[in-house]
Amino acid sequence: MADASSPTAANPATERTPLPRITPRVFTDLAVWMMGFGLLMGLAFPFFVMLFGVPSENVLTPIFFGATVAAGLCVGAISQLISRAVVGSKLRLLRSRMNRVETTLREAIRSGTSAECNPETCSVPVDSDDEIGEAAASFNRLVEALAASHRVSDASGDFARTLSSHIEVSTLAEAALSELQEVGRFVASALCVVRDGEMVTVASNGIRDDQQIASSAPVTRAYRTLTTIHLDLPEDVVVDSSLVEFTPRSVIAYPLHIRLVPIGVVLLASDARTSAEDDQLIDSLLPNFAVALNNALSHEQLQQVAAIDPLTGLFNRRFGLERLGEEFSRSVRSREPLGVMLFDIDHFKAVNDTHGHQTGDRVLTAVADAARGVLRDGDTLMRYGGEEFLAVLPGAGPDDLHDLSERVRRTVESTVVTDNNREVRVTVSVGAVSFPATDVTDIEDLVRHVDAAMYVSKSAGRNRLTMA
Ligand code: GH3
Ligand code: MG
Ligand code: MG
Repeated sequence: MADASSPTAANPATERTPLPRITPRVFTDLAVWMMGFGLLMGLAFPFFVMLFGVPSENVLTPIFFGATVAAGLCVGAISQLISRAVVGSKLRLLRSRMNRVETTLREAIRSGTSAECNPETCSVPVDSDDEIGEAAASFNRLVEALAASHRVSDASGDFARTLSSHIEVSTLAEAALSELQEVGRFVASALCVVRDGEMVTVASNGIRDDQQIASSAPVTRAYRTLTTIHLDLPEDVVVDSSLVEFTPRSVIAYPLHIRLVPIGVVLLASDARTSAEDDQLIDSLLPNFAVALNNALSHEQLQQVAAIDPLTGLFNRRFGLERLGEEFSRSVRSREPLGVMLFDIDHFKAVNDTHGHQTGDRVLTAVADAARGVLRDGDTLMRYGGEEFLAVLPGAGPDDLHDLSERVRRTVESTVVTDNNREVRVTVSVGAVSFPATDVTDIEDLVRHVDAAMYVSKSAGRNRLTMA
C-alpha cells in the first residue's frame, strides 16, 4: 500500500520538482563578449585615429594604448551591467509570473477548484516591441489559452454535476439553462421539447411569451434540420418586445438530439454578439444535456404511465390516493378546507349487458370527461375502481363541495353516448365529505366517510348526492 504522504504520480501537487535557479550564465557570457569587444576596440582605436592624420608618435604609445583599452573594457562592463539591469528585471518578472501560473494550476488541481489565474493577475506587461516584448506577449497568450482551457473544463465539470443532480424535466431544464446562460453570458434562454406531438417550452428565463417561442421559426428550424440556427441582428433592428424582455443582438437555437433523433431545442439570446469561443463552449456542453434531458423525459413518461389510467386518462387509484394524502396533510397544517367526492355509475353492469363492453368503456370515458370538465385546476380526479371515481378538491368547504358535486351529478345525467343510433345515458350516486367540517382522523377515515355517504345515495334510490 502506498504511503499517503509520499509523492505519487497521481498527485502532481505532492510531486512538485523545484525550479532550477536561473544562473547568471547568460550575463557572464554577455560580459565576456562585451569586454572582449571593448578590449579589441581599445587595441584598434589608436590605429583608427591615425586614419584621421594624428601622428603615430602621439598614439602608438603605451599610455594611449592603456587608456583606450581601459575605456573599451569600461564600456563593455557598463553595457553588460545595463543590459543585466534592464533585461534581467524583465526576465525575473516573466519568471515570477510563470511561477505564479504554475503554483495556481497545481493548487487548482490539488483542491479540485477552479484556477484563479486570469490574464490580469498572471500576465506580464508588454512594454517593448523587441524580442523581450514578443516573449512577454507570447507568454500572455499562453496564459489566456490556459485560462480559456480551464474555463472549459470548469464549466464542463459544473455542468455535469448540475445534470446529474436533477431527474425532473422542469428542474433539470431550469438549472441547465441558468448555467448555460452564465457560461455563455446570455441574457435569456428557453428549452423547448416535443410533448404529445407538440413543441412546448418547459423552462425559460427572460422571455416574455415563452409558449410563442416554442413555435418560433428558429426553434422549429433547428429541430427539423438539427442545425444550429444563428440570428445576428443588426443594431437598428428592434425585436418584438413581446418575445423577450430586452433587445437581443444575437439569438441562437441549438438542437438537442440523441444519435440524430431530435429531442428539443435550447434557445439562447444575448444583448451582444457572442464570441466563437463561447459558442464552442456551449456546443461542447449540449450533448451531455441532451442525454440528461432524454433521461428526464423517459422518467417523466414512466411516471405518467405509472400514474395514469389508460382508459380514462385520469390518475389511477394508487397515484390519486398519494395526492389525497398530500392534500390532507396540507389541509391539516393550513386549516384550509378539503373536499372529497366519490361517485359510482348506477346500474353500470346493465350498460355492459345491454350495449357490450366497448360501449361500456365509452360511457366510462364520457363520465370521466364530464366530471373533469366540472372540476377546477388543482383538483385531482382519479379512477378509484371499475366505475367509481374519487375527486380531491382542495379549498372546498361544505357549500362549495355541495355545488360542485351536484354539478358533476347533473352533468353526467345529461351526458349522452350513442351506440348504433341508440342513446345511452347513465347517472351517478355521489357521496361527499368536507374536512374539517366533518372531523376525520386520517385519509382512511376520510375515505370511509365518503364511501358511506355514497352508499347512502345508492340505497336512497341512486342519482343523488349525500353529504357526510
Ligand atoms: P350499482 O348501481 O349498485 O353501482 O350497480 P352496478 O351495476 O354499477 O354495480 P356492479 O358492482 O354490480 O357492477 C359494476 C360493473 O362495472 C361490473 C363491471 O363489469 C363493470 N366494469 C368495471 N370496470 C369496467 C371497465 O373498465 N369497462 C367496462 N366496460 N365495464 C367495467
Ligand atoms: Mg355502479
Ligand atoms: Mg361500483
